[in-house]
Amino acid sequence: MSVLEKISSAEAIALENQYGAHNYHPLPVVLSKGKGVFVWDVEGKKYYDFLSAYSAVNQGHCHPEIIEALTDQAQTLTLTSRAFYNDKLGVYEKFVADYFGFDKVLPMNTGAEAVETAIKICRKWAYEKKGINENEAQIIVCENNFHGRTTTIISFSNDENARKNFGPYTAGFIKIPYDNIEALEQAIQSSSNIAGFLVEPIQGEAGVYVPSEGYLAKAKALCEKHNILFIADEVQTGIARTGKLLAVQHENVQPDVLILGKAISGGVYPVSAVLADDAIMNVIKPGQHGSTFGGNPLAAAVAIAALNVVEKEKLADNAERLGVIFREKLKDYIKTSNTVTMVRGKGLLNAIVINDTEESETAWNICVKLAENGLLAKPTHGNIIRFAPPLVMTEEQLLDCISIITKTLQEFEK
Ligand SMILES: *Cc1c(COP(=O)(O)O)cnc(C)c1O
Repeated sequence: MSVLEKISSAEAIALENQYGAHNYHPLPVVLSKGKGVFVWDVEGKKYYDFLSAYSAVNQGHCHPEIIEALTDQAQTLTLTSRAFYNDKLGVYEKFVADYFGFDKVLPMNTGAEAVETAIKICRKWAYEKKGINENEAQIIVCENNFHGRTTTIISFSNDENARKNFGPYTAGFIKIPYDNIEALEQAIQSSSNIAGFLVEPIQGEAGVYVPSEGYLAKAKALCEKHNILFIADEVQTGIARTGKLLAVQHENVQPDVLILGKAISGGVYPVSAVLADDAIMNVIKPGQHGSTFGGNPLAAAVAIAALNVVEKEKLADNAERLGVIFREKLKDYIKTSNTVTMVRGKGLLNAIVINDTEESETAWNICVKLAENGLLAKPTHGNIIRFAPPLVMTEEQLLDCISIITKTLQEFEK
């Protein structure tokens, strides 16, 4: 069969099942086209995308300005490696550093790589600037975190699925409960070797857990007081998703180290970044860290276009405004619902909690039904459904989506 031939949904699923590793469990929907807030399957059925590739497509599918930057640059120069300079990287580095208010950026490709990079920078800073003895630095992380899939990152996960039989694990991490300032203070006081605190401003994969107001600001203040790097993983929450450019900005926090990925490229191309000021970033010297593709001209051109769209189309304001409407309408629905117990979130990163066990099929079945009704979402952790549409959505479209969601939920009421 030629790869260019059109295939049916059933054929596409069968191919993935037979030839692909089974490391995901997708909804049985086969997409072949996307535009703005919509995607289409191979049979031509149209859906609202309410996942946005885990918040990587905040700017909407195939945004014309980002695609133009991609195709222009793709025809000019795509990859030089960092063995040579290129005429796009420096322009992008200045742009992205100014955009987020840091001295410097270290460009990578995926979120997990950027987290790894931040961990390496933090440890090196601890030994060379803070004076911690070599190999003794500790980084504080939170329970139920999600920071990616490398061996070091899963070492400090407490998700059995992500960890089991992938050991031995990397040492040097202390796990504390999320949204608990006392626990952070205790951990800091338990050791003089604390180098950093790595945290998601909202825990996305865990089920969109929004910490109590003031948590991030208090955590930042504690870190400052004890000369510990506050490292914000904004791979999912960043780039306007939660109603501000960065989720930490809800509490006026500027992290010491900022990790970005996903929507920094508008979902067009893998781009990730670690940002920090010179006092931290300058611990990295030539030869000590790198990536063949990190900072390539194609990535640079795409990321500039993607971030320009966020600003020009005021996506943060739109996410804030639509998020309020979304939670209000769902709260109204929940008042009389036996199926849904709660809606929570910020901006357009939201989740509903289904009144059933984590092992139950209810959330999955609701998502299958939602797809039939023209809206794509995915359960996270069994009984939680995340709702994260592209931020280019209009109010009219959102109201249409809310009506699809509530009508679908109604089919599951007892
Ligand atoms: C998705 C995600 C990552 C990992 O990004 P990948 O590009 O999948 O490696 C890291 N941190 C958070 C908070 C994420 O949501």
